[in-house]
Amino acid sequence: MSDILLHRVLPFSKRLISETVKPGETVVDATAGNGNDTLFLAELVGENGRVFAFDIQQAALVATETRLGELNDRVKLILDSHANVDQYVTKPIGGAMFNLGYLPYAEDLSIITKPDTTIEAIDKLLGMLKKGGMITISVYDGHEGGAEERDALLAYVKSLHQADVHVARYELLNQRKNPPFLIAIEKVRDFEKVEQV
Ligand code: SAH
Repeated sequence: MSDILLHRVLPFSKRLISETVKPGETVVDATAGNGNDTLFLAELVGENGRVFAFDIQQAALVATETRLGELNDRVKLILDSHANVDQYVTKPIGGAMFNLGYLPYAEDLSIITKPDTTIEAIDKLLGMLKKGGMITISVYDGHEGGAEERDALLAYVKSLHQADVHVARYELLNQRKNPPFLIAIEKVRDFEKVEQV
């Protein structure tokens, strides 16, 4: 049993989500990738919950399906951009997770998350999110295109109204090899469309 408080970014994002999601809720994995967060979310919501997992690469959904095993029946795998989340998910949701960048070990490492679609998805998910719910975004800025996405995302989240959401950035400062940092958004009051300032 580890008593570390300053977790790395990926475990810390799971910690935040597990503190706010309840069994039976609907949640979103916006970037299924190899299915690590999808599996975590499927376990968290339990047999009466539902996970909607998005990816634009078939290979990612195949890897996720394999990883899920018998938990596939609580997960809907969707081969489409998370920017279209509103076409698949009916509100409210208990939480959502993003893991940006490219799929490690993929054939085509140039397939990456993009500023416009990432922000569109976050904006839609914030409208669907329950009050007290959390959206976590693990941001990678070491690859080509990563810095642009990071900067657009930071500008967007900083513009969100402080009465609607609390936004925090969390990172470990002494890790090698371009580790991700975390943006966590907590919805503090009910709204359909988040206001920007
Ligand atoms: N960088 C992380 C993994 C990120 S995986 C790490 O190193 O562990 C990011 C996933 O997002 C990829 O599988 C990619 O196919 C997917 N993706 C990219 N754009 C997307 C979009 N618009 N909608 C949904 N998934 C997308």
